[in-house]
Amino acid sequence: MLVLLLNGGVSIAQSVEACGYYGHNAKFSKEQICPQLGFESSEDAEKSIRKILNQLGLQMNFLVVQCSNINNAFAVNLEGDIGHIRYIIYDEGFLERIGMKSQTDWASVSILAHEIGHHLNAHTLDGVGSRPEKELDADEFSGFALNRLGATLEEAQAAMQNAGGEKASKTHPARSDRLNAIAHGWTNAASLSKKYIDLSRNLDYTSYAKMWFEKARAIRGVSEGDHINRVAYYGKATEYKPDYTAAYRNKAKYLNELGLYKKALIEANSAISLDKNYWNAYTEKARAYFGMEDYQEAVKYYSIAIENREPQRAGDYAARAFSYLAMGDRTNAIADLEEALNLRPQWSIIQQKLTELKR
Ligand SMILES: [Zn+2]
Repeated sequence: MLVLLLNGGVSIAQSVEACGYYGHNAKFSKEQICPQLGFESSEDAEKSIRKILNQLGLQMNFLVVQCSNINNAFAVNLEGDIGHIRYIIYDEGFLERIGMKSQTDWASVSILAHEIGHHLNAHTLDGVGSRPEKELDADEFSGFALNRLGATLEEAQAAMQNAGGEKASKTHPARSDRLNAIAHGWTNAASLSKKYIDLSRNLDYTSYAKMWFEKARAIRGVSEGDHINRVAYYGKATEYKPDYTAAYRNKAKYLNELGLYKKALIEANSAISLDKNYWNAYTEKARAYFGMEDYQEAVKYYSIAIENREPQRAGDYAARAFSYLAMGDRTNAIADLEEALNLRPQWSIIQQKLTELKR
């Protein structure tokens, strides 16, 4: 099946960053991608990956590709002729060397589990590659998966002991932190299997919620359809994680974009009830009131954002100015427009409006 897909040719629209196991990111582009992309993965690696997924009841919905001499393993999401494809790319020699150094077969399994963790956590969707927090999530997943497969904690940590950089880099955390993340995942799995009966009550859906959040954030367009999708995905995020403050606020933002002000108000209020100092949510609340032509309330909530937010935003002043204008208060409107211009001097619409009002 792999060969069939790739016979059609994989054309990669732009270069994207991949999440590497350690050290550095890799930029993949059509020219730079492993020339052996069409080759089949080794049976061992694929078997390991299937085992990991079976433990978690998941389907294998990515391609596993062997790529010699990259001395690393990567998770990456590439756009091809048939749409986006998720890859796990690994260097067999690299896995073998780590395995020998670690003196356990679990080493390569844990590296592959780590890469699966990147895909399951939707880390490859933003195209920016590794970041320390992503690495820790993927490490935690690999610890979790290895416990489920029957590895001891030492076996789960063996690869990291031998491959992880001792010091933190811009993309990868220090080895000690990564070992802790693996231990955390491993311990979580161990405690879950002990409390098997309570499993459904104790499940933590945070990673699902984050996945939907990132899915929404990855949308680039500004059409109505794009906004509807954003609202739906942020809705999924709060469904899985009912205290996901940023997801409520973002939902409010795009409901405002869609002109669904009553709904936006409800979401903004949810965000504020979770965190009364979340000033971005007050802006969305004010926007909703403005949309419903309740300018007094709009001024009230823009004011809360203006008084508290650091740094202040020109947009809040401008929006409050238009609320004042709608109430016939030119003096306050002019003062706010001037403040908006102070913060963003090149804002031509505001410059024009100000000239018009002062005429
Ligand atoms: Zn990684």
